[in-house]
Amino acid sequence: MEALRLIWDETFTKYDFGDAHPMSPIRLELTARLVRDLGLLAHAGVHVHGVDPVGDEILMTVHDPGFVEAVKAASVRPPRLDEAHGLGTEDVPVFEGMHEASARIVGGTLDLARAVWQREAAHGVNFAGGMHHAMPDHASGFCVYNDSAVAIRALLDEGAERVCYIDIDVHHGDGVERVFWDDPRVLTISLHETGRVLFPGTGFPGDFGGPAAPGSVVNLAFPPGTSDAPWLRGFHAVVPQLVRAFDPQILVTQHGCDSHSLDPLAHMVLSLDCQVESYRVLHELAHEVCDGRWVAVGGGGYELVDVVPRAWAHLVGIAAHHPVPPETLVPSAWRDYVEQRFGRQAPRRMTDGKDVSYRPWTAGHDPEDAVDHAVLSTRKAVFPLHGLDPWSD
Ligand SMILES: [Zn+2]
Ligand SMILES: [Zn+2]
Repeated sequence: MEALRLIWDETFTKYDFGDAHPMSPIRLELTARLVRDLGLLAHAGVHVHGVDPVGDEILMTVHDPGFVEAVKAASVRPPRLDEAHGLGTEDVPVFEGMHEASARIVGGTLDLARAVWQREAAHGVNFAGGMHHAMPDHASGFCVYNDSAVAIRALLDEGAERVCYIDIDVHHGDGVERVFWDDPRVLTISLHETGRVLFPGTGFPGDFGGPAAPGSVVNLAFPPGTSDAPWLRGFHAVVPQLVRAFDPQILVTQHGCDSHSLDPLAHMVLSLDCQVESYRVLHELAHEVCDGRWVAVGGGGYELVDVVPRAWAHLVGIAAHHPVPPETLVPSAWRDYVEQRFGRQAPRRMTDGKDVSYRPWTAGHDPEDAVDHAVLSTRKAVFPLHGLDPWSD
C-alpha cells in the first residue's frame, strides 16, 4: 500500500483564469516545487500520480447535465458565456480548456477517494482540489466542478455509510454542504469567517441540515479578525467531538489557507503555525476514528508565495508521516527561484514563529466574547443532535 498518494503534474496549472485573477496557478506550481525541494517526494511510500479528466457521467453524479454542457460550451473558441450557470462572471471568467482542467481536478480527488477507500493508499493529497463553492447547477467563487462532492458521492456508491467532510477554508464550504444537505451519511463541518461579512454569505450555525439529516451540517462562523488561539479554541471545541460522535469511516478535509493574516481576500489573522497545527490534528483524527483513511484537498489561498506553498507543503509532510519541523529553513533553491521569477524575497523558514497554545473550552467560556459566542451557537445548534452536551462535552 502507498503511504501517501499525491496528485500532481504540470497539467493542473491549466486551471487558469488569467493574470488578473487571484486564483493563480502559480500557487500550485510553487507548492509542488517546494514539496520537491524539501525532499518530501523522496520518502519511501510517497507516490505522485497524474490523472485524466473524468467523464461526464462522473460529473453528473453531482452536477446537472445542463451545467456540464454549459461549461463545455464556455471552454471552446469562441466561448459561449452563460451567467445563469455562473460562467463568464468576474469570479469565474471562462478560458479555453476550462472543462478539461476542471474535470481533471475532480479526477484527482476521485482517484484519492477510491484509492484510500480500497486501501491502495493510506492517505491522499490533492492540493489542486477543494473547489468547494461549485454548485450542482452553477459555477461560483472560482470553482467550476466540485471535486470533493463527486469524490464523496463515489464513496457512498462504493458502500461507505459515514463520510465526514471538514472544511477549514476561510470561506463557507457551501457547495459540498448543498450537495449533502439532507443526506445523513455525510457530515459536513465548515469553519469559516462569518457570512455576514464574507463571500458566499452563508454558513450560519442554524443551518444544520435537512429534515432527513438534522445535524449532518455543521457551521462555525468566526468573527472577522479571529486570531490563532481563539480559532484553535473553537476548532477543538467543535471538530473532535463531532467526528468522534459521528464515527466516520473516512475523512475528507479541505485545507484552504486563505484564513492567514496575509491573505488578501479575507479578514482572519491566522498564522501558518496555527493552520499547520489544525492539519496535524485532522490527521490524528483520521487515525483515531477512521482507521487512517484520509483524503486532503487544497482550496482557497491567495498569498501565492509566503502562505500557500508553505501551508500545503506542511500538509504533504504530515500526510507523508514526515512532518516538516517548523524551524526548517526554506530550501535555498526554492527561494532563489522565487526571487528570480517574481523579484521578491521568499520566507526564510517553514514557520511564522507563532506558538499554537490555546485555552481549552473546558476551562470555561465567556458569552460576551465574540468567538466564544460563535462557538457556543454552533454547539447549541448541533451537539444535542449528536447526543453531545453543548455546555460540557
Ligand atoms: Zn476560500
Ligand atoms: Zn497517517
